[in-house]
Amino acid sequence: MFQEVNQRQIARITTGNLFSGNDEVLISQIAIDSRQILHPQKTVFVALRGAKADGADFIAQLAEAGVKTFLVHQDFEERAFPQACFIKVSDTRRALQLLAKYERSMFTNPVVSITGSNGKTIVKEWLGQILGQKYAVAKSPKSYNSQVGVPLSIFGMESYHQVAILEAGISRAGEMAALEEMIKPNLGIFTNLGTAHQEGFDSLDSKLQEKLSLFENSDLVIYCADHEQVSSQIEVLFPAEKRIGWSVRAGYEFTRSVKLKANGARLLLMKSDLSTHTFQVPFTDVASLENITHVIVAAMTLGQGAESIQEGIAHLKSVDMRLTLKPGINDSLLIDDTYNNDLAGLKVALDFMQQQRPKRRKILILSDLLQQGSPEKIYEEVTELIKKYQFDLLFGVGKEIIVLEKEFPESFRAFSSTEELLTNLDPESFANDMILITGARVFGFEEVVNRLQQRIHGTTLEINLNALTHNYNFYKKLLFPKTKVMVMVKAFAYGGGALEIANQIQTMGADYLGVAFSDEGVALRKQGIKLPIMVLNAMQESFGLCSKFDLEPVVFSSEFFESLAAWCTIHQQKMKIHLDMDTGMHRLGFEEKHLSELKNLIQANPQLEIASIYTHLVGADEEVHQEFSISQLKSFEEIKNQILQVLSYKPLIHALNSAGIVAFPEFQFDMVRLGIGLYGVEVTGKHEMALRAISTLKTTISQIKELNPGETIGYSRKGVLSSGGKIATLAIGYADGYDRRFSNGKGYVLINGHKAPIIGNVCMDMCMVDVSGMDVKAGDEAIIYGEKISLKELADQIGTIPYELLTNISTRVKRVYYLD
Ligand SMILES: *Cc1c(COP(=O)(O)O)cnc(C)c1O
Repeated sequence: MFQEVNQRQIARITTGNLFSGNDEVLISQIAIDSRQILHPQKTVFVALRGAKADGADFIAQLAEAGVKTFLVHQDFEERAFPQACFIKVSDTRRALQLLAKYERSMFTNPVVSITGSNGKTIVKEWLGQILGQKYAVAKSPKSYNSQVGVPLSIFGMESYHQVAILEAGISRAGEMAALEEMIKPNLGIFTNLGTAHQEGFDSLDSKLQEKLSLFENSDLVIYCADHEQVSSQIEVLFPAEKRIGWSVRAGYEFTRSVKLKANGARLLLMKSDLSTHTFQVPFTDVASLENITHVIVAAMTLGQGAESIQEGIAHLKSVDMRLTLKPGINDSLLIDDTYNNDLAGLKVALDFMQQQRPKRRKILILSDLLQQGSPEKIYEEVTELIKKYQFDLLFGVGKEIIVLEKEFPESFRAFSSTEELLTNLDPESFANDMILITGARVFGFEEVVNRLQQRIHGTTLEINLNALTHNYNFYKKLLFPKTKVMVMVKAFAYGGGALEIANQIQTMGADYLGVAFSDEGVALRKQGIKLPIMVLNAMQESFGLCSKFDLEPVVFSSEFFESLAAWCTIHQQKMKIHLDMDTGMHRLGFEEKHLSELKNLIQANPQLEIASIYTHLVGADEEVHQEFSISQLKSFEEIKNQILQVLSYKPLIHALNSAGIVAFPEFQFDMVRLGIGLYGVEVTGKHEMALRAISTLKTTISQIKELNPGETIGYSRKGVLSSGGKIATLAIGYADGYDRRFSNGKGYVLINGHKAPIIGNVCMDMCMVDVSGMDVKAGDEAIIYGEKISLKELADQIGTIPYELLTNISTRVKRVYYLD
């Protein structure tokens, strides 16, 4: 953080009331996460109230750990903590923003801010790298661009930074004002306008206007004038001397022409003073070309010479800059952060690691940080971070990182280059470890990841954990704050991978997990998942497992109740159970006619504690069944009231699944059961735009073939290209879960953004697509489904539902998890 402040100042900046604070305690760190505190004495902990949790719940524990300063809500009872200082405000999130605004106001070097619909993070990262050759750059970690992300990014700015690059993102009307007030950018970049997140806005125009308000106090705004709507708004809102437009047409500050070549493109930029500059860039796709043009124009505007910009571009690759969790060798978990190049990014990666389920050892492979500025200070901080996160083994690569050796004489191993590391790295020495691999671009740590990851065939299911959080919060917002959420992770978490998803859900603060069978619950427990787990279909043989692993079975009949009660009596155990009430599903469950028997059983068997009573709706997703759903809910209300009469305690009451939450929020009772919605499919169709796709199924092209007219493709000669053409063979088939019903043109995949229809029958491990006229080669990626191919559309195409497509993905397909 840029400027230290004392407790009294914090109170003044946030217009809060100070309780037992003074001028002496100097604060240099701000934390909103209780797990990320390095220097308790120097930290102010801001207790935010989120969908996940209330930060105030951690205060006792933090006060114990030595934190002295807390920003809390007005209603917090501070008297229990006489040793600490409390600053009380009406809204802690707002107070966090006011602190950020203050810190920003102390920073006198240029602040660049980027907003727009797509490309923000890429433009920020690339610009950061190019400027970083000459200047000490502070930039938002990952895509920290929200109401809380922006303040955290600002607190990452230090006195040695010469320029700051901050990303700003909004999802609904009215949010930009707070971001503007904090960031106060000197230079703005507007990337482009898309239709994403349209939900929160009246129209595209109002969204555009809101976004552009970020720059109302900026000196200059960079934009692409070829987007009609964008340029006409900017021309209305900003005077000519503030605008830096670039376009393929003449008449703007920069005119751009592009010449595509075999493995890149040449960009020619002509300035309005007629000076021209050419740049070789390693991309050919429209989006990357637009992004890099924004970056070049911004770097030139900030005074960087064309030659040094070109040098920076030569080091860029259109690499994956996501933080990714991958299966590693011998059951290890790899956290791949090979694009990371600064301290802020390292902190995000460490925090992500901390949230994963525990493994045998924690291992860090880290390169020099290559930041301009004050290296001693940076490595001091790295040292503190490593101490805090307690690694068992450290591999340092580079010339500077070696300074850590004296701090960690036992665990540090130094390598002067990546080659040297690779020569000495024995993959077999790792087993069941957590390995974080993080390094600056030039170190090429991809090779290290390659060496340590589990080898499998070319099909992967990528799961976006940020999208998962986004979807969770979408449903959370439809509920009262006190309503609990059970997340259904049955069937391998709808195909997404039960362990990692359950772990993420646990971090997000869900209350319960639901699985189909006991062994699913056992697997979760064995990997350290602590949430209560309800088992829909526990069998008689698994009562022992339920008891041993603290799993809570659903009881759906009197016979089941009796046998479980008897088991518990014999083994002198108590057990928590859930009662399933059949109000119309007619699958499992007690019906109304069983009620008096059930009540007797409950009274006679106190060793079974009723943790919850629930029912399940049969048609919450369809309006035609609305009346029936309501009758189910009404009858459930009666039934549960009757059961409550014989209980001296209060079990949880729940009825709604994903569709139910959207359709009947008035029946949320104590808890809801979230399934498909979390995984990105909004089955009622009412909020389709509000959810994000969480999974992308990808494979690669194994071979390309040219066919003559009339030649056939695949089994039973079903595929024919009557006038010949080109096909690609993909490494995915029905054994991977790619449904055979997609055969013969029913399905298609996306290759380089183009649709390629399935031709012939889908085989067991492969299928063929028509790529006639397309520029493709073996090794290219094919997207089976994801953000651009909706599951609903695919499911409709073969007469099924998204649930089936998701859960069919074979476990042999590698799951990879990332934060975007
Ligand atoms: C699977 C399941 C859910 C979740 O349903 P979605 O439609 O995926 O939200 C809820 N309750 C029960 C009993 C279930 O079996």
